[in-house]
Amino acid sequence: MTSYQIHALLIEDDPDDVLLLKEALTETEKGEIKLGLADRLSRGLIELRMQDYDVILLDLNLPDSRGLETLNSIVKIFPKIPVVVLSGLADDATTFEAVRRGAQDYILKGEINGPMLLRILHYAIERKQAEAVLRASEARYRTLVDTSPNGITLTDLEGKLMLCNQQTALLHGYDSPDAMLGINVYELVAPDDRQLAVLNTQKTLEEGRVINIEYTLLRKDGSHFPAEISSALLRDGGDAPTGFVGITRDITQRMQAIEAERRLTKSREQFIASVSHELRTPLFSLLGYLDLLRNGKVDDYDVQKEFLTRASKDADRLLDMVNELLDFSLLESERLALNWEQVDLSVVILEILHSFREQTDARSISLKWVQMDPSLIAELDPSRMRRVLENIIENAVKFSDKNGEILITGESMNGNVIINVIDRGCGIPEEDCTRIFEKYYQVSSTHSENVYGLGLGLYLAKQIIEAHGGSISVKSQLGAGSTFTVTIPVKKRM
Ligand code: ADP
Repeated sequence: MTSYQIHALLIEDDPDDVLLLKEALTETEKGEIKLGLADRLSRGLIELRMQDYDVILLDLNLPDSRGLETLNSIVKIFPKIPVVVLSGLADDATTFEAVRRGAQDYILKGEINGPMLLRILHYAIERKQAEAVLRASEARYRTLVDTSPNGITLTDLEGKLMLCNQQTALLHGYDSPDAMLGINVYELVAPDDRQLAVLNTQKTLEEGRVINIEYTLLRKDGSHFPAEISSALLRDGGDAPTGFVGITRDITQRMQAIEAERRLTKSREQFIASVSHELRTPLFSLLGYLDLLRNGKVDDYDVQKEFLTRASKDADRLLDMVNELLDFSLLESERLALNWEQVDLSVVILEILHSFREQTDARSISLKWVQMDPSLIAELDPSRMRRVLENIIENAVKFSDKNGEILITGESMNGNVIINVIDRGCGIPEEDCTRIFEKYYQVSSTHSENVYGLGLGLYLAKQIIEAHGGSISVKSQLGAGSTFTVTIPVKKRM
């Protein structure tokens, strides 16, 4: 059996032209070209379905199809088979147009000879194969560009955007990549960073590439986002610079994480400083009273008693702080376990109010309790919930002015006990209202030197209340006062 190098289908209706071509074939080595024949487009299409052909020799004007239509019909169904057009005229416009639209080459019928035919068919097949390889490689790169999580841009040397992917449009708030074409990329950089962009373009021109430069970039609506851009120089075949490829990565999340970490480190440092300060104040006072008493400097029994009471209060404050720190460390290590009991919250609140009586009397602050429902019994951890409420009421006292008024209400609603602590003190700026529940947070504008506290009270309150299945919220107006609302389920929720 003969194995042919090229299997070609000739679609030609003119018997003379068929003869001419067959004659030319006799000039080639036997077995180099195997020729199939069809005298109509329709028959050609059937033939192509039935057998594998390497190349098609096509007369554009056939009885059942004429001109470029003939080529279109074939290319549409058999896009992978190269087509060589047979032309009767040397400067036929239709033939040139056919080559422009996908035919690999053309042959003038009057000039056909064997070696030339062989060469043209070989080239047509090779070119088509090379085109397919190129197209596959292009498709791979296209997928890479389209699926990249980063913005990818191609610009000319002046910075005009020639091509970009979907992610670029998404980053800059445009509807589609096409909507961005022609934009100068310097316009996408925040004005303060444009000089930096110009410098880095120059550097890319000189060094070939620049990696991971941070910029503030602009969206279409004028808003900003932080990004990191790497760029590389593009060159033509003659090594002359033609433009730049740029990769843009949105670093908003990274910047937020860095900022959060920075804030936490700062708060931690402040926290350690304030813990030392807060522990020292009552400790010095306590030691002072004990010294006076031990050295026999106070003879009066009533004064001795008074000093001992004050020393004992200092010790209580120290114990409170140590307990707060202990709960904090248990929460941090997720080891806080609650001790559940049935507790009448009205009794707890009355005890707390009593403990503040001296402080509030000294500053003429009125502390009022209104029980709106007969039963405020709930299942909870009594010592922890007591500390939570103590803290909220203590804050209300701390941040109230002389002659201030504090109202505490308790009611039972929808299976919850709701406690409101309402003061008419300095209030909390709106932007701080959610942040006061963060650990270490203290409002700088209201937190003065002589107000003690670790910035942990409300953080612990929120964590402990949430561990009870409840919630805490605040409504506040600067200069007018604050209302803290604590909601605790009556029944322990599993
Ligand atoms: P601290 O123990 O340092 O007071 P908290 O967590 O209890 O910490 O409170 C956090 C911050 O919230 C306080 O430092 C204060 O700035 C603000 N704050 C809390 N309660 C009130 C209030 N009733 N009125 C005004 N500011 C308050």
